[in-house]
Amino acid sequence: MNNQNNGKSRVIGFLTIVTIIMIGVGVLMNFKLRTLLREYVEHQVTEQARTFAALSAEQFELEIYDLENAAAKIPADVEPDDEILGLVINSSDNITMGLLCLDGTALSGNTLSFSDFPGIQNAFRGNSSVCYKEGQGILFTTPVYDGENVKYTLYKLFDESVLLDKFGISCYNGQGQVAILNQAGEVVIPFSDAGTVTSDFLEKDIIKASMQKLSEKMNIDTAAAVYYKDNKIGNFMFISEVKQLGIYLVGTVPEEALTDGISTITALILWVFGLLILLFVIGMIYLLSAEEKVRESDELREAKNMAEQANRAKSDFLANMSHEIRTPINAIMGMNEMVLRESNDEHIRDYAVNIQSASKTLLSLINDILDFSKIEAGKMEIVPVAYDTSVFLNDVINMIDIKAKQKQLDFLVNIDESLPSMLYGDEVRNRQVIVNLLNNAVKYTKQGYIKLFVSGEHKEGGFTLKMQVSDSGIGIKEEDLDKLFEGFQRLDIRQNRNIEGTGLGLAITHRLVEQMNGSLDVSSIYGIGSVFSVSLPQEIRDEAPIGDFRQHFESISKNQTEYKESFTAPDAKVLVVDDNEINLSVVKALLKNTKVRVTTCMSGKECLELVSKEYYDVILLDHMMPEMDGIETLKRIHETENKCSSVPVIALTANAIVGAKAEYINAGFSNYLAKPIEGTMLEKMLLQYLPKEKVIIENSGSSEAAENKKQDNQPDEAYINIKTGLQYCSDSMDFYYEILEVFIESYDEVSANINNSLAGEDWKNYTIYVHGLKSSSLTIGGEKLFAAAKEQELAGKAIGAGEKTEENIAYIKAHHSEVMALFKETLNEAQKIMSEK
Ligand code: ADP
Repeated sequence: MNNQNNGKSRVIGFLTIVTIIMIGVGVLMNFKLRTLLREYVEHQVTEQARTFAALSAEQFELEIYDLENAAAKIPADVEPDDEILGLVINSSDNITMGLLCLDGTALSGNTLSFSDFPGIQNAFRGNSSVCYKEGQGILFTTPVYDGENVKYTLYKLFDESVLLDKFGISCYNGQGQVAILNQAGEVVIPFSDAGTVTSDFLEKDIIKASMQKLSEKMNIDTAAAVYYKDNKIGNFMFISEVKQLGIYLVGTVPEEALTDGISTITALILWVFGLLILLFVIGMIYLLSAEEKVRESDELREAKNMAEQANRAKSDFLANMSHEIRTPINAIMGMNEMVLRESNDEHIRDYAVNIQSASKTLLSLINDILDFSKIEAGKMEIVPVAYDTSVFLNDVINMIDIKAKQKQLDFLVNIDESLPSMLYGDEVRNRQVIVNLLNNAVKYTKQGYIKLFVSGEHKEGGFTLKMQVSDSGIGIKEEDLDKLFEGFQRLDIRQNRNIEGTGLGLAITHRLVEQMNGSLDVSSIYGIGSVFSVSLPQEIRDEAPIGDFRQHFESISKNQTEYKESFTAPDAKVLVVDDNEINLSVVKALLKNTKVRVTTCMSGKECLELVSKEYYDVILLDHMMPEMDGIETLKRIHETENKCSSVPVIALTANAIVGAKAEYINAGFSNYLAKPIEGTMLEKMLLQYLPKEKVIIENSGSSEAAENKKQDNQPDEAYINIKTGLQYCSDSMDFYYEILEVFIESYDEVSANINNSLAGEDWKNYTIYVHGLKSSSLTIGGEKLFAAAKEQELAGKAIGAGEKTEENIAYIKAHHSEVMALFKETLNEAQKIMSEK
């Protein structure tokens, strides 16, 4: 800001200086112009004066010429008689003619004094001449010859009173004045302006000074002019000599009369110059402001770049942070799984279940942020692979089925039987897209159904996978539809207050679909439900139709080495490499039951040392490690001589989302395991890669088979899903029965606690008790009770947070008996399971 102000004042200062200089130049130019103009006018006036003198001389010469003609008519040999004289001498009131004899007598006219008029003597010497005598006038004389000798002088005297009329010169349209002076400087013919007394005028100091200058100029010329100022008015004074008569024309003319037209030209020039200055200033201001704009737009561009950089830095930071956060979550989840496996204490298990659920939520949140920031940073890559359509759909449906059941929603699936059985596309991203949409459908639907329709479209040689998710949920307000795909946008907050979410899911989904050149459309009626339709271009790898996709999937799974039972492999040796000690402990703990011999180390370097000495059946190798990462380490394992150069190496990665499998396989890994590592996944992986001879599959025995049968035969409307319960009991039926027992025994106390706190409107304790009920019901697989208790707990928590207290109290009260009835039904079923044990 300061810089801008400094810049502005510098510009204004510069402009002012330039303007002052321009004005100075203007003034100087004006002065120079005027001087030049004056010199020019002086010159013109001088020439004019010369012309006036010539005119005047001509007038005088004309008179002399007339007089000489008259003289020629006078006979010199005889005395002119009156008749002749009458013809020649032609006097009037103010003009007198006469003929003088050498002795001064006048044969005609008046006698004149020779001393007053030297022209008489001149005539007797044979020259015509003109002379002036103040008070008498101008006398023209010419000789009259007798043979070669002058006998008479003929003269013509113009009285002073006629001089002006006869010889006065009007100049410059009457604006100038001209007087005729003799050599002595006396006025012969005054100014024509009666108001100006010529001799008085000539006596003025300024005129005298001008006359002085003129006489100096006259030393080298016959005419001259000078500029002078009288009473602040500019004038030109001029002089010109009429040599043959010995007289001078002296005149004056106001500057205005001479320079009128020209001064308008100078004014015009000055005006144009002023205009130029103005244009210059405007131009400069424009240029400077344009420059400022350019600078501003430069600054804007710079700011934009900085913002983009900051945004990139933010995305990088988020991506790195998310990655870093996943490592400790991985440890937490692994350790927690050990707690769940090894602890029989109901409370501890309860806490562990909560930790598990919270870390799953946290993990999915971090995954979302990681994805979003990757997309924002342009680092999200689409990695197409060939995939089995049925496996893909089956994974998706299984994932959602559990959730839909937990919320007692009907999950309707309609898969077009003609779908090609093998497609080529980014399976991981496709799954993410459809699972996001289905998860939302479950999340934002309280009752009714969610539907998945999958079909395909063959168009212009290509194939588009079309998936549609519809629900009978809360719907989206029309005005909110536009905001749906913006990041961190959660809509209808009031309705959705109890639903977990970040507002990132759809933003990610939308961007992913765009990146895969697909389209995502939504239509919704608020309060009725929503329909999300996604189209994803894929390539076909096997045209054969999938038919009934469930059957198809089952046929594939039969051919796969599937993890069904736990195993032991006391002779198998596994090397685990990870720079995080907790992760190493987690893997060790997870493999404890398998009796696999686990060796751990914390760097690529150590790993290379170990493989040079020892053979391992499988190596689990972390990707992100300082100094030498997993990929580099694997490269060296393959390149150097060691005991494990051909053993399967499985990548451990927290970066499991970005087309991970293809990436790791390309790098030479046999497979990859996503962190946090799940026990079952780990065991399944080892089962696949450990040498078969070293693996002992435990015979599950008839009782377990019966139990499995029991689980599979459970009716859908059951209050307890044993499969779910077993997940929380390390898949151990014995352990499950123990938990079930505790659940049954605690029924009276728990239901009394819940009922009492409701009666006493003790919402804090009510929340704690339903929270306990929620956790314990999930541990035994009481999914319906879990979902109902969870709603009550959320309402209780909202009361605790002071949110919509009345509404939430009403909610709890309205649903309380329903929850208690479910509790009772779940208890009955638990007792039934125990009795059938
Ligand atoms: P989140 O579910 O984490 O809040 P999403 O980006 O997945 O974020 O969804 C953004 C918002 O869109 C949600 O907060 C919800 O208001 C609305 N929404 C998404 N899917 C549905 C749906 N099937 N029915 C109603 N509302 C939905």
